[in-house]
Amino acid sequence: MNTLFIKKDVIDEVILHAYNAKPFEGCGLLVGNSNHIHTFLPLVNESNNHYQYKVSYEQLNRLLQQINFTNQELIAIYHSHPLQRAVPSSLDLLNHPDDSIKMIIVSLKQGHPVVKCYSINNRDYLECKLIVV
Ligand SMILES: [Zn+2]
Repeated sequence: MNTLFIKKDVIDEVILHAYNAKPFEGCGLLVGNSNHIHTFLPLVNESNNHYQYKVSYEQLNRLLQQINFTNQELIAIYHSHPLQRAVPSSLDLLNHPDDSIKMIIVSLKQGHPVVKCYSINNRDYLECKLIVV
């Protein structure tokens, strides 16, 4: 399944979140059913490094419980790159928790946001389609 569908208002929320997080990376969970993303759940980036993000286990666990409760699935994890291109860093690949979850990166390096989606396989990545519906 190498295509994801995301609602227009959800991707707008994600991009706004990325801008508001600047100069740090923004991050959050994208949930829905099968390959359709319906909801954005923002996370608080606990890192003060401009080139990475960190989320505590407690914070993540709270949101995962919320997802279970609404009968949705975690489809993708989003984070932003305020200063870099929308390509996974080696740290991003190392920290990716589960290869069944996609990685969405919003780059703000250019004057306009660039959004890319990747499937991750054993610390390697392949771009997949993200269709706004
Ligand atoms: Zn990154």
